[in-house]
Amino acid sequence: MPELRQEPVTKKWVIIATERSKRPSDFPVKQEERKEGICPFCKGNENLTPPEIISYREPGTKPNEPGWWIRVVPNKFPALQREGTENPPKEDFYTVLPGTGAHEVIIEASEHDTSLERQSLSQLVEIFRSWRERHNHLMNEDEIKYVQIFKNEGAVAGASLQHPHSQVIAVSLIPDVVAEELDGAQKFYREKKNCIYCEINQIELNRNTRIVEENDGFIAYCPFASRFPFETWIVPKQHQASFSGLDDSLLRHLSSIIKETISKITTSLNHPPYNLILHTAPVGYQDAPYYHWHMEILPRLTIVAGFEWGTGIYINPTPPEAAASYLREIKAIH
Ligand SMILES: [Zn+2]
Ligand SMILES: [Zn+2]
Repeated sequence: MPELRQEPVTKKWVIIATERSKRPSDFPVKQEERKEGICPFCKGNENLTPPEIISYREPGTKPNEPGWWIRVVPNKFPALQREGTENPPKEDFYTVLPGTGAHEVIIEASEHDTSLERQSLSQLVEIFRSWRERHNHLMNEDEIKYVQIFKNEGAVAGASLQHPHSQVIAVSLIPDVVAEELDGAQKFYREKKNCIYCEINQIELNRNTRIVEENDGFIAYCPFASRFPFETWIVPKQHQASFSGLDDSLLRHLSSIIKETISKITTSLNHPPYNLILHTAPVGYQDAPYYHWHMEILPRLTIVAGFEWGTGIYINPTPPEAAASYLREIKAIH
């Protein structure tokens, strides 16, 4: 049974995922070299995944059969689970919670050999529509406090299967990273009576040195204190605390700016591994005037090593102004 354990000094949470229990020999050193076997996410192999939760499919086709273009399934090795979670053994010193939650996989295409930026704009709209649908559904489930949706692209970024997919992990607490953002944003709001993300949008648009892309709904910029080379954030122009506020018109603008930005990053950096991470308001904060949802694209070109782990201070060899200027110039290949 998975457990949530709290580190007693820093109060940071860790998931002890017993369902994935690994011996030392289970940790492959070079995942890239792993031989491709049969892919459970490919069209025709629907029986190799747990039964689907939802799918977008041709009328007249049956669940767990071909005919789909988006398919959401439970993770076969869930880090957290909804059913049958029981209270872990009581601890007198340490804090431990049951690993209640959900862990789902969004299969972003029925064909194997494609990637986010190579898919059509209409398929990206379907991908982010499924992100929104699962987000909104899980936000209303009992005990859920936060819904994290993310994509790991490339083995270095954590993808264990090549087939295009993203993941949803719903948790029963507000994660530290989100709590820190809420806290900082709330302090700024108390003092300045404005959302700090709205203010940053204005500053970045005015200065125009770190902007990568812009459309009617969103801006993409390399943040002032980027931790990673070519780190790029995608932020709605209008104030909106929760991803659940994304309407169909914004969904189209979001899909378009993500396709454009990822194309630029993959073209200029030769398909680097990256993480695409949603940051959004937890349950109960959906209307916060001080929080503003956004997405972070973190290319994994540098290795997070001893200094970063020791201090939490990242060393970034590429100034965000240089990264943005480079990405603005590049002609993305679709
Ligand atoms: Zn596949
Ligand atoms: Zn805002």
